[in-house]
Amino acid sequence: MRTVEAEREARWSATLHAHQRRVTRQRLAVLAAVEQLPHATADDAATAVRAELPHITVQSVYVILADLTGIGLLRRIETPHSPARYETRVNDNHHHAVCTGCGRIEDVDCAVGHAPCLTPEWSPGASRMTIQVAEVLYQGLCDDCRPAAPHHPPTHHE
Ligand SMILES: [Zn+2]
Ligand SMILES: [Zn+2]
Repeated sequence: MRTVEAEREARWSATLHAHQRRVTRQRLAVLAAVEQLPHATADDAATAVRAELPHITVQSVYVILADLTGIGLLRRIETPHSPARYETRVNDNHHHAVCTGCGRIEDVDCAVGHAPCLTPEWSPGASRMTIQVAEVLYQGLCDDCRPAAPHHPPTHHE
């Protein structure tokens, strides 16, 4: 019986082959690290990969992250006030919510698998485009950060 990990590795391997990339322990380790740490920064990923493969350099991990993003195995997310983050959840047009207090990031499914899920209202004079992806970044406060927000009504204890 095949494990979930083996199936995932087979899928990654097939995609690597399709893009003329060799299946290496380094590439698989980077994919596994990002799979385990969704929305990892490059540094997070490098730390996790180096725990498995101590000889790989941080620079090599950066290069692999960029390459895997280029062939669509990883998605790179840009959020304000944070280095880029990476995830293995690709091609489903999901969105992100980022906490402006602590920077934690959560997935927002929206209409998974039905891109785009937002219908643009074009400005007058705009030259309309055929939309392929709609990417939304929600910004707010997570439960841990919310009590510090001044405009949030305090809970009544006594
Ligand atoms: Zn927070
Ligand atoms: Zn995500």
